[in-house]
Amino acid sequence: MQVSTHTKLFFSHLLAVVLVSGSIGTYFYASAIDNLRYSLQSRLLNSAAMLSEVFSAADLAPLRSEADTALPVYARLTERLRKLANTNPDIAFVYIMRKVGDQAVFVLDSDPAQPALPGEVYQQQLPALMRGFDRPSVDAQITTDKWGSFLSGYAPLHDGRGEYLIGLDMKADEVAGKMYQLKQAGVISLVVSLLLAVLFSGLLARHFNSRIHKLMKRCNEIARTQLRPSGVQRSGDELYRLGQTVEAMAEHLERSRQQSEQVQRELEASQQELEARVQQRTAELLTANEKLREEIRERERIEAVLQQTARTDYLTQLPNRRAMIQMLDKEAARYERSPNPFSLVLLDIDHFKHINDSFGHDGGDEVLVNIAERMRAWMREKDVLARWGGEEFLILLSDTDVDRASDQAERLRAAIEAETFVLQQGETRITASLGVAGYTPQQEIDGCIKDADVALYRAKSSGRNRVVTHRPSDIPYGT
Ligand code: GH3
Ligand code: MG
Ligand code: MG
Repeated sequence: MQVSTHTKLFFSHLLAVVLVSGSIGTYFYASAIDNLRYSLQSRLLNSAAMLSEVFSAADLAPLRSEADTALPVYARLTERLRKLANTNPDIAFVYIMRKVGDQAVFVLDSDPAQPALPGEVYQQQLPALMRGFDRPSVDAQITTDKWGSFLSGYAPLHDGRGEYLIGLDMKADEVAGKMYQLKQAGVISLVVSLLLAVLFSGLLARHFNSRIHKLMKRCNEIARTQLRPSGVQRSGDELYRLGQTVEAMAEHLERSRQQSEQVQRELEASQQELEARVQQRTAELLTANEKLREEIRERERIEAVLQQTARTDYLTQLPNRRAMIQMLDKEAARYERSPNPFSLVLLDIDHFKHINDSFGHDGGDEVLVNIAERMRAWMREKDVLARWGGEEFLILLSDTDVDRASDQAERLRAAIEAETFVLQQGETRITASLGVAGYTPQQEIDGCIKDADVALYRAKSSGRNRVVTHRPSDIPYGT
C-alpha cells in the first residue's frame, strides 16, 4: 500500500505530539491526584489537630459504657461534637475514642442516626488510628466499615495523649467526587490536546507538503524544459518523485559539466593555436623589422658615401670646391663667436699645360694626385686643403694671421719646387704660384677668396713660382 508523504508527515507529527502531550498530561494528572490526596489528608490532619484542643480528657473520664449515655455530660459533649461536625460540610462524622489495651473504644460519636456508644470497640485495626492516640495521623487509603466508606484523620486530645483521640471522617463520596472532577478535567484537557495535535499535525504536514510540492513542481519544470522528457516517473510518493527529479537534474548537470569541459578544452586549444600564430607573426615581423633596419643602415651608408663623394674630388680625394665653401662658411661663423684669425692660400701650378703636353692628360692627373698627397703631408693636421678647380688648390690655415700664412705659403712653394715627381712615363719637376689673403669680417669669405685670387694673379704676372700676399692697402679685386 502506498502512503503519501502528507499522510506520513501527519501521523508522525500526530504520534509525536500525542506521545509528548500524553506523557506530560499523565505526569500532571498523577501529580494533581497526589496533590488532591495530600491536600485532603492535610485538611483532615489539621482539623483533627484543631479539634483536639476543644475537648478535655478529664470531661470524658465518666463515659465508659452504654449506660453512661444517660449522663448529662454525654448529651452535652455529643451535642458539641455534632455542632462541630455540622460546621464543615466535608466532614461526615466526628468521634472521640479511648485506647484500651491495643483496642480503640468509642467514647462519643456525632452520628445522629447510628451513633457508636461509649465502650463500643472499633473492630478494625487501623495503623493510622492507633498512631492517632500519640500524634496526629491520617488514613493512607479509604476505609470501609459499617458506617460507610471514609477517609479519616486522627489527633490525640491535648490533655489525653496516649489515651484519647478525636477522629474525623470524610465521606469517600466526597473524596471520589473530587477525584472525579479531577479526572473529568484531565479527560477534557486530553481531548482538547488531541484535537490540537490533530490540528497542528494537519497544518504542519500541509505546510511541509506544500513546500515539497513547490520544489517538485519547480524541479519538474526544469526537468521538462531541460532534461530528457521521460526522465521522471510519476509513480511513488512525493519524496520519491522529488528524488527521481533530482537524479535527472544531476545527470543533466553532469552532461552540462562535460560539455562545458569540452568547450573549455577547445577554447584552450584555439587559444594556444592563436598564441602560436601570434608568436610566428611576431617573429616574422621582427625579421622584417631587422631587414628594414638593415636596409635603412645600408641606405644611410650609401647616402653617407654619396655625400662624401659629392664633397670629395674624385681624382685627388681632397674636399672639392663645394665642400670647401661650406667649411669656409663655418670658419667665418666660428670667427663671429671667437675672432681667431685665419687665412686663405690659393695655389696654381705653373704651366700645367706643358705637363699635359709632355706626359699626356693621364700624366697630368698623376701630377695632380701626387702634389695633393705631398701638400697634405707637409701641412698641419688642422689645416684644410681642397681642390679648387683644374690645377688650382685652396688652403684654409686656421688660427693663422696673414703674415704667418705668407711664411707657410713660402715654405710650401719651396717644397714643391724642390720635389721631383715620378710619373709612369718619366720624372718631372714643377713650380706653383700662391696668393695669400687674411680673413677680415668686413670682406666676408667671398672677398677673402677674391683677395687671394688677386694676389695669385699678381704672382703669375710677376714671373710665377712665388708667393704674393694681399695687403689691405692693395687695390681691391676687379678694379
Ligand atoms: P699658367 O697657369 O702658368 O699661366 O699656365 P698654365 O698652362 O697652367 O695655364 P692654364 O691655367 O690656362 O691652363 C691649365 C691647364 O690645365 C688647362 C687644362 O687642360 C689643364 N687641366 C685642367 N684640369 C686638368 C685635369 O684635371 N687634368 C689634366 N691632366 N689637365 C688639366
Ligand atoms: Mg690655372
Ligand atoms: Mg696654371
